[in-house]
Amino acid sequence: MTFRKTTLIVSSLAIAVILISTALLSAFAWSEESNLEYFDPLDYRPLTERVYTSPEVSSIHFDLVGALAIAAGFSITDAAIMQTYSQLLDAGQIPSNNPVYALNADPANYPPPPPITSVVTNTMCLTPSQTGPTVTMGMANFDKMECPGCFSDRFGPYGVFFHMPHNTPDELGAIRDWAWGATNVLTGKVTFGYSSTSTFEWQGIANVYETTPCFTQETHVVDTGDVNAGSLEAFGLYLHSFGDNLSHGDCLKAADAAGYYFAAHVSVKGLSDPLWDCRWTHHDFEFGDPAKYPIFGVDSPRTLSATYALYNEIYNYALASDRIVYRPIPITAENNYISDTIKTFVYTTTAFSPTARRIVANDLRNWALQTRAASSDYWLYRVYLPVIIR
Ligand SMILES: [Zn+2]
Repeated sequence: MTFRKTTLIVSSLAIAVILISTALLSAFAWSEESNLEYFDPLDYRPLTERVYTSPEVSSIHFDLVGALAIAAGFSITDAAIMQTYSQLLDAGQIPSNNPVYALNADPANYPPPPPITSVVTNTMCLTPSQTGPTVTMGMANFDKMECPGCFSDRFGPYGVFFHMPHNTPDELGAIRDWAWGATNVLTGKVTFGYSSTSTFEWQGIANVYETTPCFTQETHVVDTGDVNAGSLEAFGLYLHSFGDNLSHGDCLKAADAAGYYFAAHVSVKGLSDPLWDCRWTHHDFEFGDPAKYPIFGVDSPRTLSATYALYNEIYNYALASDRIVYRPIPITAENNYISDTIKTFVYTTTAFSPTARRIVANDLRNWALQTRAASSDYWLYRVYLPVIIR
């Protein structure tokens, strides 16, 4: 879950100004990153010859997932689907101007918000006089959503569910079960917010809990459009939520401790603020927070463990899949090539160098293509030449 850097409001807090000014330049790897644009993953000409176009993408959700899918034995076509849908959970439509891929739920199936009279009984909400009937979050507001059919949109009904999921059976576990085909329907949570004091806008107001404390959640079957349970597309979407759960882990913990359903992009009063990890720029810094980690600009070890976990997830899916065209390459095989390359991706490229990470991911992809073709260790079927005995 990330928000466009151009819409950031500069806080009056000095520390926030420092953080935001850096964030405007670039972003960490799970965000849509400055100047890291989408390319068609089936266009595997050298990086310099490809066509790049809006939207900006994440070097992990997009580039690295594509490389890891190849390493896990998927075909070039299937890897392209997985990495595109892994990115699509953010953008909803790719490319931006002339979408080839788009989420296409029927907007009529988005659940309507419950009346405020039924919501004020919820402990999160104040009395009706303090909580207006205006639903300012969770509604299908197509002005704010990237497209009406974008069911995973960050500004739509299921934004919190897909982008800030807890690793629990009814959140990330539900997406996983659907993606793996363990269930045919995806059951998700809608988070509704009510406010009478001001219009809550993701992009306009930082602290949602300064706007209203009144949030309520409901569980509904998600219309996922033409993305079916158990499909590669579904698995690609799941990989994004899987990464977001790890990426936003500190914020999820902080919100839980505060007793909130979620928190994101709140304004904070410094490091001691309990919601520090949910502040405006947390998506950029949660893995390499310069205030929390001593080496500025270098991602924390948690980025590494998260990207390893990402490959583990793809690897296990590959082992269970009937679509792989090669055996998946273990992370420690070939003298730890994959684990070492992921380390390079995380550490020797700096936090603000998405292009450098793109190059590492592209090299990993090319290495995996060559390695799996060259070594019979990764062939699904070994071919034995007939020995004719006379
Ligand atoms: Zn996200």
